[in-house]
Amino acid sequence: MDIPSFTGLGLSSKVEDAVTASGYTTPTPIQAQAIPVAVTGLDVLGIAQTGTGKTASFTLPMITRLETGRARARMPRSLILAPTRELAAQVAQAFEKYGANHRLNVALLIGGVSFDEQEKKLDRGADVLIATPGRLLDHFQRGKLLLTGVEILVIDEADRMLDMGFIPDIEKICSLLPPRRQTLFFSATMPPEIQRLVDTFLKNPVKIEVAKPATTAKTIEQTFCFCGEGEDWEKRELLRELIRAHNVKNAIIFCNRKRDVSILFKSLTKHGFNAGALHGDMDQTSRMDTLEKFRSGEITFLAASDVAARGLDIPDVSHVFNFDVPWASDDYVHRIGRTGRAGREGCAATLVTIDELKIIKEIEGINGEALNWQGDAPTEQDFEEAGKKKRRRRGAKGQSDSSRPSRGTSRGGSNRSRQRRQSENDNEQPITVDDAERHAKPARAASKRPKRNAADAEFPSGGFSPDAIPAFLQRPVRRPKPPAKRAKVVNE
Ligand code: AMP
Repeated sequence: MDIPSFTGLGLSSKVEDAVTASGYTTPTPIQAQAIPVAVTGLDVLGIAQTGTGKTASFTLPMITRLETGRARARMPRSLILAPTRELAAQVAQAFEKYGANHRLNVALLIGGVSFDEQEKKLDRGADVLIATPGRLLDHFQRGKLLLTGVEILVIDEADRMLDMGFIPDIEKICSLLPPRRQTLFFSATMPPEIQRLVDTFLKNPVKIEVAKPATTAKTIEQTFCFCGEGEDWEKRELLRELIRAHNVKNAIIFCNRKRDVSILFKSLTKHGFNAGALHGDMDQTSRMDTLEKFRSGEITFLAASDVAARGLDIPDVSHVFNFDVPWASDDYVHRIGRTGRAGREGCAATLVTIDELKIIKEIEGINGEALNWQGDAPTEQDFEEAGKKKRRRRGAKGQSDSSRPSRGTSRGGSNRSRQRRQSENDNEQPITVDDAERHAKPARAASKRPKRNAADAEFPSGGFSPDAIPAFLQRPVRRPKPPAKRAKVVNE
């Protein structure tokens, strides 16, 4: 059987050399299928998740195609739209790597940094313009940019753009581009809004689907720890135990709210863990700085909001912890996809409280197999109680449960609920861990906590071996109290 290689895909020899220098010998499935199409100038619809090697599947043919021709001032020859600044910066890095044998001018237009430098780059003429939609339109409106020379358009992570409310911006940008161009379009999922974009802006695209959308990689070992009615301080304690019990080289720890990212970061630091924080309220320089420190190993633990869930390529993350179960099951897929990248093995552990059991059912559905619970698994009664609690909350608050953002559909609710969720988060002021600990009940006395036993010491693997359940996971789960006695109600 032929072993697939990068030769014969239609890439130029200079690009092939750069790939060889990167150490890659075998194209990933998306690369093997998309590159031969993209080099010919046809449109591509790639349904692929991050971690599949999709960045190279569009950068390599683009560099090949851009070998001929020159950029003119303020008229970029190609445009790549990415949903987040980090993703855009990552794509720029890919051009540096794969374009090492070329002299391409690459301009990165992202928010949070000054316009001046970006304008200078545009003036010099960009072969490749990588941008987030908002900043691109800002430059356009300032009259610094003409998009009529764009020969190749890439839209990366389109479903993420949808989640972030960027679709009107994308439509506006597409209307500024020449109709005769190549479009390479990537999305992990294909909801109807995305299909509509494809139908409007692509011409007879070749559809390439490499992995079923919203499925978790088989190389990731997933475990779940049921915390019953656990308070946040108890979850922080459990997290520390989990980290200590496993051979965690480095980890991203996801929280649902920015406020909790700040609390967790401070708590981890206070307990001697080498940690950093990443969330959307931080300015761009600190975000990039923290990410770089995490990449280089200067920081071992990254407490993060979902801003870090998609697309970030941090090779070799040994563990992902979900301090909270994400509000939508596809966010779970993206979060745990930060580990086990490019065929490596990874571990993901999720702390689950009783309120989060509904979404757990959806995650089980995605995985297509029973979840691996460490310690006490939730019972049918717990699932029933979770449903009842939700109904009680609804009853108490009228029609809708406005205390929590919508967890509704498997896509995480409507765009509007996503945006509402975002703005709810934006309003949250970070509070200090001291505040949090003050409000919390005193931590369980160390003496009451089961001591770690010898089995724990022999738990060096990166994974979560079911044969060696640490003692702390054998603790009794605190479950809801039974409803108040009838007699009392009668007395009232
Ligand atoms: P992406 O899906 O583009 O974010 O890529 C995921 C990871 O796979 C990145 O670390 C890439 O550097 C790596 N990668 C891309 N192509 C290959 C390949 N052909 N062989 C091995 N690793 C690759």
